[in-house]
Amino acid sequence: MNYPKYAVLLGAAAVLTAFSGCGEKAPAQTSAERDVFAMDTFMTMKAYGSGAETALEEAQQRIKQLEDELSVTSEDSDIFRINNAGGEAVEVSADAVTLIGSGVSYWNETSGALEISVYPVLAEWGFTTGNYKIPEPERLKALLANVDSGKIEVNGSSVRIPEGSKIDLGALAKGYTGDEIMDICRENGVTSAIISLGGNVQTLGKKPDGSEWRVAVKDPFAPDTNMCVLSVSDRAVVTSGNYERYFTGDDGRDYWHIIDPKDGYPADNGLVSVTVIGESGLRCDALSTALFVAGTDAAESYLREHTDVDAVLVTDDDRLLYTVGIADKLDNISGKSAEVIARD
Ligand code: AMP
Ligand code: MG
Repeated sequence: MNYPKYAVLLGAAAVLTAFSGCGEKAPAQTSAERDVFAMDTFMTMKAYGSGAETALEEAQQRIKQLEDELSVTSEDSDIFRINNAGGEAVEVSADAVTLIGSGVSYWNETSGALEISVYPVLAEWGFTTGNYKIPEPERLKALLANVDSGKIEVNGSSVRIPEGSKIDLGALAKGYTGDEIMDICRENGVTSAIISLGGNVQTLGKKPDGSEWRVAVKDPFAPDTNMCVLSVSDRAVVTSGNYERYFTGDDGRDYWHIIDPKDGYPADNGLVSVTVIGESGLRCDALSTALFVAGTDAAESYLREHTDVDAVLVTDDDRLLYTVGIADKLDNISGKSAEVIARD
């Protein structure tokens, strides 16, 4: 089970009443709201404008379709069929092709930090069932032998992975789903919307009153508390954090759900939370997970080189690092010291 990582500050703009210049009352702006439980996540959607109701109805159907295609557990899904094909090629949906292709691209781009074939290792830790345990080091080593996105083959609409490998799109499917919902909103003439898919917040346009959306990011050291608020429009804000799913082992240590594919252990490379802000939900989702795995130094250097995204990082010694592009949009409401990641 996933819990929403964000509190979304929607403001008090549920229904706006505007007045025209001559004092006549303009029609109240319509809005629609929907809560959906899908992909193991509570999702909330709010859209404004005459097309809002239709947009969210279509969005809900699209979420269901994506869940059916991409679920790792339901036996008819594309992912289940790929994982259980015994090394044979499988025909899959365009969505699965897009996401698997992206997974492989980000694996390349992040030096293997994003690794969609890490699934058997996650399962060994019990993150797929909730039956948590610390695996034997030998067992992890054996499982890691089959973890390699370089062996995933995508040919047109067919996908093949080696026998013994299993993939899971948990690190990027919600970002893609968010992008699809934003597209559906646009197609229906909606110009103002905000959705929260678990930890993924995506915004379309500005709030109906013309101000930016305010998206709160949790403090990974106190997840009931917000650490900062970001003012954004037309942006995805996606967080990966060690507090989202974890268990405390018999040894008293905490083990979390984001795995370093280098050793099969929870990624522990200096970061406890990574929030990525950018135009594409898919890119932000893939990068939030990948930069969490890559760790402080690698994340900082990636962010210096890739200026199309911004990020807020929290280190394991409780420092907040943020990219210069988001500096005037970030309200640090925590007592943490904040340092800017400069870009030349
Ligand atoms: P996110 O919340 O987007 O950071 O995604 C975390 C989820 O991605 C986990 O619950 C796993 O299902 C999966 N995952 C864990 N480690 C990795 C990894 N290194 N690469 C890709 N997916 C991962
Ligand atoms: Mg992610």
